[in-house]
Amino acid sequence: MSDIMRHLESKGSPELALAAVSGLDVYPRSIVDSGDAIYFLGCRDNVHRLGVLRKGRSAGAFELAWQDVTLDGRDYALGIGEENHANAAALREALPFTAPIRVGTKRSAGLGDRLGIATPGHLRAMRRSKGIVPVLAQQSIREMERTERTPEDVMDAATWGVFQEGWRAGFGADADHLKTPEDIDYCAASGFVWYTFDPRDHVDNDAEEDAVDVLRKKYEALPWADLDATPASTREQYVGKEWDLEGYRLGLTEEDLLRAACKYGKALAHLASMYRHLVDVMGERPFEVEVSVDETETPTKPHEHLYIASELKRLGLEWTSLAPRYIGRFEKGVDYIGDLAAFEETFAQHVAIAKALGPYKLSLHSGSDKFSIYPIAARLAGELVHLKTAGTSYLEALRAVARVDPALFREILAFAIEHYEEDKASYHVSADVNKVIRPDAVSDEELPDVLDQFDTREALHVTFGSVLTLRDAEGRSVFKDRLYAVLEANETEHYAALESHIVKHVTPFSD
Ligand SMILES: [Zn+2]
Repeated sequence: MSDIMRHLESKGSPELALAAVSGLDVYPRSIVDSGDAIYFLGCRDNVHRLGVLRKGRSAGAFELAWQDVTLDGRDYALGIGEENHANAAALREALPFTAPIRVGTKRSAGLGDRLGIATPGHLRAMRRSKGIVPVLAQQSIREMERTERTPEDVMDAATWGVFQEGWRAGFGADADHLKTPEDIDYCAASGFVWYTFDPRDHVDNDAEEDAVDVLRKKYEALPWADLDATPASTREQYVGKEWDLEGYRLGLTEEDLLRAACKYGKALAHLASMYRHLVDVMGERPFEVEVSVDETETPTKPHEHLYIASELKRLGLEWTSLAPRYIGRFEKGVDYIGDLAAFEETFAQHVAIAKALGPYKLSLHSGSDKFSIYPIAARLAGELVHLKTAGTSYLEALRAVARVDPALFREILAFAIEHYEEDKASYHVSADVNKVIRPDAVSDEELPDVLDQFDTREALHVTFGSVLTLRDAEGRSVFKDRLYAVLEANETEHYAALESHIVKHVTPFSD
């Protein structure tokens, strides 16, 4: 323990001593003794501030305003700075636990944070679970565009939340649904470690239904040079072979291979080129890859999964998780819709393949609120599972708003009803807008509960981008600034809403 810390502790409470010298409300878990300085996060007028207390002034890479302070007659220098990018970057250097790590094949949960202020709530839920690594910086390119955030914003928000909560156990950072080499560059520049590749634009969904003679033509025309194979070598590798996967046998007929190769062949070539690009860009820096084929039109059959994984292996890719599209409906922010027994049967097959060809984790995309399948996935996959959530945390933020500012929530709900039809286009949802609860149909007391109604949930879920970017004729934000102001002024309620909802997601996977 440093002299400064000993001094602060001698006052009874380091938190109160720091509050006395800084004039900030100090987050007790944020206090770090680095040996030559005490770092802490505080808050005044709903604005978070970084504090550094040392023997003498030293700027380093931090952007701080310094002042001399005395505590019991001893002189210190106190630096106070904003939660900005320069300070987040400097913090990641000074306190490595605030920087992301490679998660590997440990059980993990992706906790996307569209507003960038949810991490403390997420971590309070994580503290109540065991054996799960949180992936705190996680956003797809699409969601970044919709929320007008950059990879840097996403990364910094995670750093600040980790610092505030004093989360020392490590966290991942997932650049989600990357489609192009430019997407990789964009996220690599901000220090992301986990790269989720989404080859959906190269998947031929028609191959599901094409006649066999059409498939044969398509098969011959695949980018064989990029696949480092020939039509004949690939036939030989798969047709008539059987794989023994933990007692269950899987094989491909010629038609199975033709369909799988035509559906995914170009996507595999794309994934291989994305991977080579990532390896180049990352150099010596640690990284990990997720392959996601969840956004296809039809479920990934076990033999397709087998084909994809063994082809990627042959092409030299290494990955730590893979997201097939599972059977049933994974709609946004609501429970699984489908046959649980059928899900269980095919999930077990996907697990067997992931163990035999990896091991790698099975990733559950659109994993929010799929409470009925968590016990199944946890039991069958064991360590090899990654749960990915995002939009559900925005909904819990709205629940907090409904509690503390019913009028604002009613406005957002009315807007969501108006915009649902337009905004639902790129999401898997089935809500009937006529069933969405009307803002004036419930009392203030009942208002937070409208977040539990299926259609209302989905409508609020898919309209987040429009809500956050809506501007009036003068270019002023209509909702965004008020939404942040309300949540920042009521962060305890916001964190509590997140904690109680996210804990329900992670508990089924907890040790
Ligand atoms: Zn996804």
